[in-house]
Amino acid sequence: MAVKLDGKKLSQKIAVQLQQDVEKLKFLGVTPKLAVVLVGDDPASQVYVRNKRRMAQKIGIETSDLTLPAATSEAELLQTIAKLNQDSTVHGILVQLPLPPQINEETIIQAINPLKDVDGFHPYNMGKLFMGDPYAIPCTPNGIMQLLSEYRISLTGKKVVIVGRSKIVGRPLAALMINHNATVTVAHSYTKNLFELTRRADILVAAVGRAEMFTQTAIKSGAVVVDVGINRNDAGKLVGDVDQMKVADVASYLTPVPGGVGPMTIAMLMKQTVKFAERSVKGIGND
Ligand code: NDP
Repeated sequence: MAVKLDGKKLSQKIAVQLQQDVEKLKFLGVTPKLAVVLVGDDPASQVYVRNKRRMAQKIGIETSDLTLPAATSEAELLQTIAKLNQDSTVHGILVQLPLPPQINEETIIQAINPLKDVDGFHPYNMGKLFMGDPYAIPCTPNGIMQLLSEYRISLTGKKVVIVGRSKIVGRPLAALMINHNATVTVAHSYTKNLFELTRRADILVAAVGRAEMFTQTAIKSGAVVVDVGINRNDAGKLVGDVDQMKVADVASYLTPVPGGVGPMTIAMLMKQTVKFAERSVKGIGND
């Protein structure tokens, strides 16, 4: 039976450490501050933003919520970001995606000061990551790396297959894992004979968004399996991309859904915000 890679437990441990880091910063006169910009009233985005705010409050990070109407223009959002870039009390800026269709996401991401880019999506930060010298790391891949490290799962010399090549998960994770000496293959919807490939992986990362598409036949015996997917199955239950029941018998380690990668993503967002605030104190950050 696979060992559970418990993201919930690790995220709570990280939160306690961050509380202490924030105390130290406050003693030095700095309160880490995260600005969260939400455009429109997408229910899923509202839930994500609420969860982020709740964890920030628990840790002692100040949040500033800017909720803009769904009809907000790109120019108006750019103005909001320009103000946040200039505000020296704000250490991290997060624009909740997706944005309404009249706003170009790339334009917005590129307008954020890369030194305040907590999501790590700015091309500057993506470039730094791919060069092996990251400044800000996207939260989901960062959370996966922390989880593997916590359970002493080394990447050196391992064959990794990441299924999914999105900008928020697959691509940055591939860069991080290459930086940690893994041999990485990134698969996507055009990949032929997908399961032949995944069956050879020492570490499999499923980041597709298809309920329970990976069963035991897709997994090598003893593989480490990271399930990033968050889906609803036909019965309306929250499930990952991995059939957890079947794969648990074959894998050596497995992230549950929920309670695996999800809580780690939020924890990494908090960690990045605190790190930015620390850099501002040391004079090498955003001030
Ligand atoms: P995207 O939709 O942006 O990317 C999905 C990727 O999967 C694409 O690269 C796509 O290929 C690939 N893909 C689709 N179908 C197949 C297939 N049949 N075989 C192989 N590859 C396929 O999704 P995200 O990366 O944003 O998210 C993926 C999943 O992870 C979702 O369920 C999402 O909810 C979840 N997620 C969870 C997070 C967490 O914190 N736990 C954070 C972020 C996402 P192609 O590029 O060719 O289209």
